[in-house]
Formats: sequence, C-alpha cells, structure tokens
Amino acid sequence: MEKSLLMYEACAGCSAIRQLRMLGEKLSGSRVVHVNSTREGGGVAEILAWMVPLMRDLGIDASWEVIRGAGDFFSVTKSIHNGLQGFPISISQKGWETYHGTNETNAERLRSSLEDAEIVVIHDPQPAPLLNLCEGRKGKWVWRAHIDISHPYLPVWKTLRTIVKGYDASIFSMPQFALPLPHPQYLVTPSIDPLSEKNCDLRPDELEAVRARFGLDPSRPLLVQISRFDRFKDPLGVIDAYRLVKKVQPVQLVLAGGGATDDPEGAEVLQEVMEAAKGDQDIHVLLLPPDAHRTVNALQRVADVIIQKSLREGFGLTVTEGLWKGKPVIGGDTGGIRKQVVDYHTGFLVNTPEGAAHRIRFLLHHREKMKVMGEKAREFVRENFLLTRHLRDYLILFHALLSGSREPRIYV
Ligand code: UDP
Repeated sequence: MEKSLLMYEACAGCSAIRQLRMLGEKLSGSRVVHVNSTREGGGVAEILAWMVPLMRDLGIDASWEVIRGAGDFFSVTKSIHNGLQGFPISISQKGWETYHGTNETNAERLRSSLEDAEIVVIHDPQPAPLLNLCEGRKGKWVWRAHIDISHPYLPVWKTLRTIVKGYDASIFSMPQFALPLPHPQYLVTPSIDPLSEKNCDLRPDELEAVRARFGLDPSRPLLVQISRFDRFKDPLGVIDAYRLVKKVQPVQLVLAGGGATDDPEGAEVLQEVMEAAKGDQDIHVLLLPPDAHRTVNALQRVADVIIQKSLREGFGLTVTEGLWKGKPVIGGDTGGIRKQVVDYHTGFLVNTPEGAAHRIRFLLHHREKMKVMGEKAREFVRENFLLTRHLRDYLILFHALLSGSREPRIYV
C-alpha cells in the first residue's frame, strides 16, 4: 500500500502535515529524480523508499533511479567511500576509468529522464559523474553526501571534488562534513519512517517468535548491534565490549547484518566476525536478507541495550531506530551519532570497547534510569528525526534552488 501524508498526522502532528502541503503546492507537477546505487540495504535506500512516495503524494512527479554496475565498479566505489571517510587508499587510473565508464553506461539509459527533470538529487559518490554526462540538463542538480566526509583522504577527495564542484548545491548531514565547494551547501539530517515495518509497533507474540527463532534466552540481558558488516561499524570492537561485560554478567550478543548490493567488502568482514565469535554460543551472528525489516524491528525491541559502536558514521539510522524504540543507545563518538546520542539523556557516546562495556554495565544495573532515558530518546526522535521534518527540509531546499540562489554559503 502506498503511504499518504495523512497517515503521519498521529505521530507528527497536523500542523507539520499542513506545512508540508503548503510547501508542496508550488512544486506540484515538478519532476524530481533521485539517483543512488542500491535499491536495498543501507540507510539511503531506507530513506528513498519512503521519501519518493510521499513526494508523489504532494503532487511532485518524483521518481527513484538506481545505477547498475559490475563488481569492479562497486569495488572502486567502496574504495572511494573508504577514502572519503579518511582511510588512506590508493585508487588506480584504471579504477577511476571503471568509475567513469560505468557512469557513462548508466547515463545512456537515464539521460533523457535526468536531462528533463527540474531537480536531480544524486546520492553519494557512486553516481556523481552523471552530472557531466548529461550536458543537456535543464534542471538543478544537488549532490547529497550521506557519509562522514569531515577528514577525507585528500587524493580521493581532490579527484571527486573536480566532479561535485559542478553541482548547483550539495547536502551534508552535519556542519563538520561540509567541505570547501563553490556552491551553496545545505545541512539536512536524515530521518526514519515511524510507520514502516522497521519502526512500527509489534505485537508481543511477534517478539517472542523472533526470540525463539534465534534461540535467545529471555532470562539473560541481550545486547544488539544491527549493521552492514563493515569495518567502520566496528563489529569486532562490539565483541570485545561484550566479552568485558560477560566477565561479570551473563549477557548475550546479537550482531545482525546483511549485505548491500553496493558493498563488496561485507563477506570479508563477516568472515572476521565469525572467526572472532567462534566457540561462543551466546554470540549470535545473523546474516539477514535485505527485506527483514520486521525482524530488525523485533531484535531492536527485544534488546536490553542497543549498540552502534561505529568508528565513522554519516548519521546512523540504526541509532535513530533504536532511540525510537524507547531504548538508550550506546554509540561511537563520531559523525551523526553525536547528533542523536546525548550523554546521560538519550544514551552514551563511547570511544573504546572498555568505554562501551562500562556504559553497558551502567545501564543494566540502573533499569529505572534506562527507562527514563528511553522515554527521552523516543521524544528526541519525534521532535527531530521523523520523516516529516526531513521532507520539509527537502522542499525548502527545492524552493531555494528553483528560485536561483547560488551563493556559496552553508544553509542550516
Ligand atoms: N539494516 C537492515 N538490515 C541489516 C542491516 C541494516 O535493514 O541487516 C538497515 C538498518 O536498520 C538501517 C539501515 O539499514 O535502517 C542502515 O543505515 P545506517 O545509516 O545505520 O548505516 P549505513 O548502512 O547507511 O552505513
């Protein structure tokens, strides 16, 4: 069933919906195309899956295109992604050629749709070269960076910058991620869909069924991290933290993740995690299919403590999802997690496995405090990180772009 804005009135309030309708009126009929590199897996796909239908509900002619590529393309784009997040990585001339070549092939397929659109939003580095391959474009093009790009490895950023500087604007999730670019930069934080399968309320028997399916013992505390198997998500650090807690308390750990089609490193990292978990019956490493939204939802709800111990993080939708479920989150002190986890209020920021273990023990021993923090966490998301706020930011940005503002400054 396609969702409509009206369905969000109960959780976001009617004035938020009214405001969206007013902002949407003038954009009605405009063609907006979003482009990313995967239909499933990861935060960008999560967001586009709700955003495009809701834009359409406002009368905007919105669509979502996904670029296609072979394994060598996604290996290069993963290297670009890692380089932008600060990992020193060298990309060969051939790698850059593969990057451009695959974008050329995609441009053949998408050109007419992109050149005709009033607004094109290109998500992340994978499809960024499309801009220069659509010379007949008549609309405004925005580059939306979802990752922590605050300390990029310079050789990678220098090359990518030659591409993205041509955009009419760019969007970042945090002020710290904005980089010198000759066009307006907008700060837009991501959000979650409270009515999606990932975030809607679940019946107790569904929670029980998930516990039983994965052999989780209801009498012992459960720690959960949901993430793609990616080194920046630090699954090995989570296992270290779990082991430190386990020395003094009988806990269980779930590390659940799935692959994204644009993430070729996942299998290697999963292997490292399996190796580290070997022989411990209380570590449950779950490889979930990309549509296991209700399972992820249930795991977050049966968790006693939700962890997202990332070393770099653009925003961290898993943190938002955990907070929305009324749980304080123990998150890595990095990127967008800092915007969501407020120490002692909505969770704890940590830098090491020792720090994470210390905070896990604190929460498990202070259940009343955990409950109060969980309530604050949910309200914090309601006020700041629901899709209605996110959609409003996009509509305002579209108005600004179409009115022709090109002053190179940062708009909050
Ligand atoms: N996710 C999922 N299944 C998994 C792992 C992750 O559905 O096995 C979802 C997760 O619930 C969240 C998104 O993928 O909605 C991950 O977004 P986040 O911003 O946390 O990280 P990213 O993967 O984009 O770096």
